[in-house]
Amino acid sequence: MADCLFCAIVAGDVPAQRVAETARTLGFRDINPQAPTHVLVIPKDHYPDLAALAAADGLLDEVAALAHKVAEDAGVSEAGYRVVFNTGPQAGQTVFHAHAHVLGGRPLGWPPG
Ligand code: AMP
Ligand code: ZN
Repeated sequence: MADCLFCAIVAGDVPAQRVAETARTLGFRDINPQAPTHVLVIPKDHYPDLAALAAADGLLDEVAALAHKVAEDAGVSEAGYRVVFNTGPQAGQTVFHAHAHVLGGRPLGWPPG
């Protein structure tokens, strides 16, 4: 999709530190990390939010599976990690290409801010 930052990252037009990939999904480091491990996992095709992603056949499962692999590869899966979809303006979604934040490597407070 034109004018979408994460579509540009998928295309290679905007650089990103890629850490994991499947045919339909991509994981890359967040440019402004909020934890020692902070990776964004996205579908390569453009879906604006979680609802649209959830309606796509099996794709949300693939995003979740890659999120877990990212946590395992980073060595944070045993201690624990968090997967977050900020959805909508009040939750702080700023990029409207669906993405899962994978956060780990430090204690994560609850409730989140
Ligand atoms: P959200 O606020 O949930 O929509 O998350 C968007 C995330 O994208 C933020 O955590 C940003 O730090 C991150 N971000 C913005 N631009 C880039 C970029 N060029 N490369 C990697 N992450 C980015
Ligand atoms: Zn996009």
